[in-house]
Amino acid sequence: MRWAAFLWEGVSRRAPGTNNGFSNLVLVVAAASSGGLVAYADSISDDAVDKPQLPPRKKVVVLGTGWGGTTFLRNLDSKLYDVQVISPRNYFAFTPLLPSVTSGTVEPRSIVEPIRRILEKKGGEIKFWEAECFKIDPENKKIHCRANIGTNLDGNGEFLVDYDYLVVAVGARTNTFNTPGVVENCHFLKEVEDAQKIRRSVMDCFERASLPYLDEEERKKNLHFVVVGGGPTGVEFASSLHDFVTEDLSKLYPSIQHLVKISLIEAADHILTMFDKRITNFAEDKFGRDGIDVKTGYKVVKVSKDAITMQNPATGDISVPYGMAVWSTGIGTRPFIVEFMKQIGQANRRVLATDEWLRVLECDGVYAIGDCATINQRKVMEDISEIFRVADKDKSGTLTVKEIQDVLDDIYVRYPQVQLYLKSKQMNGIADLVRSDKGDAEKESVELNIEEFKKALSLVDSQVKFLPATAQVASQQGQYLARCFNKMKDAEEHPEGPIRIRGEGRHRFRPFRYRHLGQFAPLGGEQTAAQLPGDWISIGHSTQWLWYSVYATKQISWRTRALVVSDWTRRFIFGRDSSCI
Ligand code: FAD
Ligand code: MG
Repeated sequence: MRWAAFLWEGVSRRAPGTNNGFSNLVLVVAAASSGGLVAYADSISDDAVDKPQLPPRKKVVVLGTGWGGTTFLRNLDSKLYDVQVISPRNYFAFTPLLPSVTSGTVEPRSIVEPIRRILEKKGGEIKFWEAECFKIDPENKKIHCRANIGTNLDGNGEFLVDYDYLVVAVGARTNTFNTPGVVENCHFLKEVEDAQKIRRSVMDCFERASLPYLDEEERKKNLHFVVVGGGPTGVEFASSLHDFVTEDLSKLYPSIQHLVKISLIEAADHILTMFDKRITNFAEDKFGRDGIDVKTGYKVVKVSKDAITMQNPATGDISVPYGMAVWSTGIGTRPFIVEFMKQIGQANRRVLATDEWLRVLECDGVYAIGDCATINQRKVMEDISEIFRVADKDKSGTLTVKEIQDVLDDIYVRYPQVQLYLKSKQMNGIADLVRSDKGDAEKESVELNIEEFKKALSLVDSQVKFLPATAQVASQQGQYLARCFNKMKDAEEHPEGPIRIRGEGRHRFRPFRYRHLGQFAPLGGEQTAAQLPGDWISIGHSTQWLWYSVYATKQISWRTRALVVSDWTRRFIFGRDSSCI
């Protein structure tokens, strides 16, 4: 009887109103196996007597267990909401170490943390369903899901979940730009399974090239590894493969090691274009010295089973035979998100757009974070008349420098591009901008009418920045959003955001602001390049140690931290494993 009551409580605490076949089944089994309706009725009355009636908690549904979703969940006060998590992956993966998994430097299980272990630390309040969402219905506030494993009573594994707030953190998929043959013939490097497949495929190529009946050309073909895309992932994969070959495989396959070739193909004029020029140059020079063939200015147009065809204005089409290819050319939107965007009038956009508070535009109660979304920063020029009206406190039709300064803090918070613009022009404040427009002599006595105000600010929107699709952005957004959810009630009474330019009062929260902590580009041979805040550049062996310490620190749990550090130590002592497992 006791455990029947326990099960009932477990079930009743899951999302009320959630029409889920699985939980209904648990309820029936619990009731039937513990003495039928008596136990069932007992459990209800126990519950009613023991517990004061609390108002139902709002239902929060989180889609995705990647960087955005997991950071949100870890920071959310789960007692305040009825939380459900839905993802086809029942673990979190530390993606920055995926390239290390392809070469066996780190084992796959060392970089993943089961989501249920993460949720357990939240006191077991949060429910997880291993399923994928295939449709969002924002009008009825429901999502349609399909279970990955097993089926429901109808046999199709589909179920519906209600939400009050939906947090979409489903990441992105690899973008093939519809290049023929890519899906069929190339590896991607996005998930842990991809990294495992690549590792096996590299070993297969070496074993195939060692077979006795092959001629030299066939061996060369099998040992030609092609990486398409010179961004951070492609570059890191190429360098870790090079390390694997030179440090470990060359000793095990001495007769064919001279036939190995690694090519890195990039359509732009340089690799690592998002980094400082000094890092790009260093990386290109180092790859040149290492014998990695960097082909810039080449666009891959077709991939067949045996050859990759690429185009360059000078050479035309050229086809090269290859043994294994990894495609890493950027990210695209998931199909169900594209459908959702059509439903909510965002069909002409590339990525799901949110406002600066991470709320999906024109879609009540839906938030989106990480790679699947982009922030649509409000432009100053769209609001310029309203800004003028709010600032002109004395309604004189002109703004004094003091009037502008009174609203300046709110303007900086609401429109970060203003501060970026002033910084780019080495100006100390908006007064400098106004003065530069009206001439130095007039100083504090300057007054601007609306046309002059528009002119002074006409260029600030050129500094609107789009955030990169990185784990850093996704996790900061998850953290920010969880804080907003935790303080939702407080903020109603004590709003902490800037003045509403269109409307009354203040915004409840400050908009999301990204803090860039720097980025790494591991280049192999125990050398890494880092671009740190303030455009501080560091390259070499000491930066590699910085990389080790940052990534050890950033691990999601002590368990994965210990596993990753022990993998690195094992690699230093014994080298990497070359088994085809
Ligand atoms: P993800 O982390 O991709 O998570 C998406 C989640 O949604 C997954 O759990 C997925 O299973 C789930 N999901 C997918 N479809 C559905 C669905 N239909 N319904 C429900 N759930 C769904 N960034 C850095 O800052 N530094 C780095 O060094 C770095 N290195 C990288 C190396 C590699 C090889 C890769 C691939 C990426 C790297 N990144 C790095 C980028 C970083 O991994 C992404 O920006 C980050 O994962 C984005 O987080 P996210 O939460 O938006 O998506
Ligand atoms: Mg005035």
